[in-house]
Amino acid sequence: MINITLPDGSVKQFEDGASAFDVANSISSGLARNVLSATFNDKTVEVMDPLPGDGNLTLHTWDSQEGKTAFWHSSAHLLAQTILQFYPDAKLTIGPAIENGFYYDVDFGDKSIGEGDFAKIEKAMLENARQKHSFKLHPVSKADALAMYTDNPYKTELIENLTDGEITFCDHADFTDLCRGGHIPNTGFIKAVKVMSVAGAYWRGDENNPQLTRVYGISFPKAALLKEYLELLEEAKKRDHRKLGKELGLFTFSQRVGQGLPLWLPKGAALRERLEQFLKKAQRAAGYEPVITPHIGSKELYVTSGHYAKYGKDSFQPISTPVDGEEYLLKPMNCPHHCEIYKSEPRSYRDLPIRFAEFGTVYRYEQSGELHGLTRVRGFTQDDAHLFCTPDQLKEEFKKVIDLVLYIFKTLDFKEYKAQVSLRDKEDRSKYIGSDENWEKAESAIKEAVAEKELPFVVEYGEAAFYGPKLDFMVKDALGRQWQLGTIQVDYNLPERFELEYKGSDNETHRPVMIHRAPFGSMERFVAVLLEHCGGNFPVWLTPDQVAILPISEKYMDYAQKVSYLLKNNDLRTLIDERAEKTGRKIRDAEVSKIPYMLIVGEKEAETNTVSVRKHGEGDIGTMSIEEFANMVNKEVSDQIENFE
Ligand SMILES: [Zn+2]
Ligand SMILES: [Zn+2]
Repeated sequence: MINITLPDGSVKQFEDGASAFDVANSISSGLARNVLSATFNDKTVEVMDPLPGDGNLTLHTWDSQEGKTAFWHSSAHLLAQTILQFYPDAKLTIGPAIENGFYYDVDFGDKSIGEGDFAKIEKAMLENARQKHSFKLHPVSKADALAMYTDNPYKTELIENLTDGEITFCDHADFTDLCRGGHIPNTGFIKAVKVMSVAGAYWRGDENNPQLTRVYGISFPKAALLKEYLELLEEAKKRDHRKLGKELGLFTFSQRVGQGLPLWLPKGAALRERLEQFLKKAQRAAGYEPVITPHIGSKELYVTSGHYAKYGKDSFQPISTPVDGEEYLLKPMNCPHHCEIYKSEPRSYRDLPIRFAEFGTVYRYEQSGELHGLTRVRGFTQDDAHLFCTPDQLKEEFKKVIDLVLYIFKTLDFKEYKAQVSLRDKEDRSKYIGSDENWEKAESAIKEAVAEKELPFVVEYGEAAFYGPKLDFMVKDALGRQWQLGTIQVDYNLPERFELEYKGSDNETHRPVMIHRAPFGSMERFVAVLLEHCGGNFPVWLTPDQVAILPISEKYMDYAQKVSYLLKNNDLRTLIDERAEKTGRKIRDAEVSKIPYMLIVGEKEAETNTVSVRKHGEGDIGTMSIEEFANMVNKEVSDQIENFE
């Protein structure tokens, strides 16, 4: 008999030779039908193979990333099998599961594959899948493995680098592939497939190697899921922040200014300013003190902080001065500057916590291939702050930062999020700096703070930085995509390196604990995420133009000016469409610009001092006085943006 421990801690006994599938079946037949992969003692095992003995077992279905990975990994085998049916001389290389789907890198020799071939491959893949071929992993000697691939230099190279005795093949139908394992029970689970695209890829990512064709695909256990996925992709394309940023006139890039250096246009700058003011106000209420530091710092500063040793080589290189011996770095992080502000005067426990906040612009080198719109740039502004507190204050401070982050999510309509608590590796504690006692304190402070705030959370062991544990927020946007926003990080390293101190109530000298936090992350990335989340339909308080005034002819320009003047006096942001276009056209253009309100003004409105109101995406909502309209919009703004308490 073997003893199997399930994730809830319960232990069940099974006959020798029982598989993960048998365990699933003992729980429910529904689970057995849906189990896609299994983790046994932290290793992926084949669902249908006998479990090797006693141990911890976790079963994965489609709902978990592990389940999807096994599904897509197995689908890559199916793709390779099918490719060989159409291209018998093609040489297979590697084919992993990726975040969304899978790919296979193939050397098609003198043949090629294009979009016109996708449909026949998809059809044949589904036909193969329907045969319900089992995936069977089995060991093979190095000599036999090499013999199998005498005409395939890629697989031969892979096998050469493997240890004899650790090599396995996976068979399904009449197809065999070199593989480490992690499969779904059989191909019958695969109910929908789509070949997404092909692209060039060098063998092992090295441009000196032969170029291969990377065939991307995705598959699902239900046809409806594929349809949903394709619709989501379509919608994501429409919401691409690079496209919307251009259409709404928010930001631009110039090759002459330099790659990855965004230029904020007037509307974008005003929007960013409003976001900053919003957070600054909340931070003031939460006891933060604004500070300002320069965009460069002496190289020595970053040698002290350790950033230079760790990142110096792969970053912007030091700036030298006309006088010898002075070197400066573009600021990659604000923290070292803030440490020096802390050090600028003696601190007592009575002064703590101290919270320094700065919208600090930093510069980090990213390879040009990695740059992407506003999400990966070379210069960006962090909504940064550093909190210095006693170890006993850590939990309270954490809770306050969580409140601030949740306030931002709520105001900006991010409804779904969970927290990820990143702690030390359970096995290896040697790679972390700081005392065990402090770590214990910080880790439990974070866990307790999260529990007391009733946040849904997951704990990841081994994900902490070497200098402290952290809390990240994973936010789901309107399309269900996950973004990491709002990191809160404990740091024992910088207080040590900068020899930060405070005098305790015991009159002794102590080290403060430092917390780094940035609820938005960076203004650039946050605006990108927000744009894609709301599809450019910003909440009224934040949107660049709140009201478009559309006079139906030139005759009513004066009245339009008057309306605009009165609304501006009521703190509303307006524009007048002065073009000699038909009203229908003006309405359509205002809709495209995603302006929340349109006011149509003509003879009737001018005579009665009223406006005809249209709401974006909704249409006509009636005629009202200018004052009524201003009050209505201002109430909407104040409802959207409650004060932080
Ligand atoms: Zn495999
Ligand atoms: Zn920092």
